[in-house]
Amino acid sequence: MSGACALAADERLAAYDFGPDHPFQAGRLAAGMSLLRAAGVLDDDDLLAFEPAADADLELVHDRDYLDALTRFSAPGAAAADPAEAARWGLVGDNRPFPGMAEAARLVAGATTAALDAVAGGALAHVFAPVAGLHHAQRRRAVGFCVVNDVAVAIARCTTAWPLRVLYVDLDAHHGDGVQAAFYDDPRVCTVSLHETGRYLFPGSGEVHELGRPPGVGRSVNLPLEPRTGDDGFLAAFDAVVEPLAAAFRPDVLVTQNGCDGHADDPLSDLDLSLRGLRALARRLHRLAHRHCQGRWVATGGGGYDLDRVVPRAWALLWAELSGRRLPARMTADWLESRRRQRRRAAAPGSREREERNQRTVRAVRRLVLPPAVRVVYPLAGRDGGAGRLPAWEPRAGEHLAPGGPLVLRDRSPASLLRRLEVDPGIHAFVREAAQEREVLARIAEEPNGEVVVAHTPEGVVVGYVAVLDPEPGTRFASLPGLLEVGAVEVAAGWRRGGVAGALLRFAVEPDPFEDLILIASGLAWHWDLEQSGLSATAYRRVLRRVFEVAGFEALETDEPEIAYHPANLFVARVGSRVPPARRAAFTSRLVRGGHREVR
Ligand SMILES: [Zn+2]
Ligand SMILES: [Zn+2]
Repeated sequence: MSGACALAADERLAAYDFGPDHPFQAGRLAAGMSLLRAAGVLDDDDLLAFEPAADADLELVHDRDYLDALTRFSAPGAAAADPAEAARWGLVGDNRPFPGMAEAARLVAGATTAALDAVAGGALAHVFAPVAGLHHAQRRRAVGFCVVNDVAVAIARCTTAWPLRVLYVDLDAHHGDGVQAAFYDDPRVCTVSLHETGRYLFPGSGEVHELGRPPGVGRSVNLPLEPRTGDDGFLAAFDAVVEPLAAAFRPDVLVTQNGCDGHADDPLSDLDLSLRGLRALARRLHRLAHRHCQGRWVATGGGGYDLDRVVPRAWALLWAELSGRRLPARMTADWLESRRRQRRRAAAPGSREREERNQRTVRAVRRLVLPPAVRVVYPLAGRDGGAGRLPAWEPRAGEHLAPGGPLVLRDRSPASLLRRLEVDPGIHAFVREAAQEREVLARIAEEPNGEVVVAHTPEGVVVGYVAVLDPEPGTRFASLPGLLEVGAVEVAAGWRRGGVAGALLRFAVEPDPFEDLILIASGLAWHWDLEQSGLSATAYRRVLRRVFEVAGFEALETDEPEIAYHPANLFVARVGSRVPPARRAAFTSRLVRGGHREVR
């Protein structure tokens, strides 16, 4: 279901115009709006009123002297009179100033800000701002046709005025570098950018290891894709990362940059998307908004430079999706037809290698930004049921006397039992509702290689759990036989500091079969909720380490890049007493990259 929707654009935005010989020109707006009207899916009633953005909002993202420079260089002839000064602010070449530039940019930011205000305040469910998503603009510099970073301004205002958590998804062919930079250390804003790899395309950034700075580590996510990636590869990357990330991050609002310059016909990128793919992406975003953001969604138009065949159609498909309007069937069928040509091209040589590279990227990103338990609940498409590595033993029950009262510890709990228990509202590792959290536990228990150990009150309320999992294929230790991963240790907020986590872990590894196994856990601060703990990085690491040591784990040195990435990160392992020496040696050799050796 879609609630009330609006489109934030009118002819005033045609003023954002670098001229007829420039890819970003007034013709984009005219072409897009006229098609929407011709298709009968846009009325005057659909338009959201907006004014130029206020100084106070712009200054959340841009420096005052930069904004002053924009005004100065908006006067005709100003840049020609002082080219060195104009260049200092990036106002040269592709970003050459045009008369009225500052006011036009301010208007774009006003449209996006009004859109997000309306959605955050609950007046509207979804808003589409087609001439918006100027995602490259930096704090003190115009970059890539982007003078003011309207999306960053709107998000900054939203997180200041409402304190909402924002998930920003950027589908433009180019990396959303300016938005990422604006919130690089902000834990309330999670930015995800899918783009053609910066090895070949402007702006050159957007690598996998650009993860953010404390306290926002893990909240900057990048999926750099190979040139010529088509619908299938792009959608696979989206599915593998974006929705599970939303589940883990628990956003209040979704803001998207739906640049269509990844279309095969676009002159400025080498991606190979079709309108069918762009429509499929819009559908996924819409579903994600309703599943994870209570329906709140602002979409911006972003880039896209084929003004005849691509931009108007992409906007129409996006607006139709967001507003629930139906485009004339003939029209849509005709547009989607062009997919056929592409299929033939997709079989070009090199496609296999491209696919493999993209898969490696996707796996690396999942490992970095998705907690292991989230990966189990949102598995990679095509993953088989696993090798059945978890040995069998009879279900057990134990006890732990916590300061909050007695607890029952239980392993091998079947999904049917977990679904009958309640979940303490203080547990919310990666979903909003306690009832959903229970479903997550049940789904892990249903996995052939997932094991959930719970601590619940005598009344049947789960206050803590440990998940033991098979590592995801493609990770460093995944191919080592007899190795499992502790994917989650969680205790409800009101039950912490009572030894529950240590008791649960100790109970979890007690059964005799664990003496034949190696257990590992990667404590990545952003997976394990350092943000909520109120502890310093070193104190947090100490607590985590103590919890694991109680259960017989030891902290080990490794060159896994993500362990070194943050001072709170920790790698621990427990090698069972009956693990054969050769396997133990193989495990040790894997702690350092390049030391691999396949051993059975
Ligand atoms: Zn909707
Ligand atoms: Zn772009």
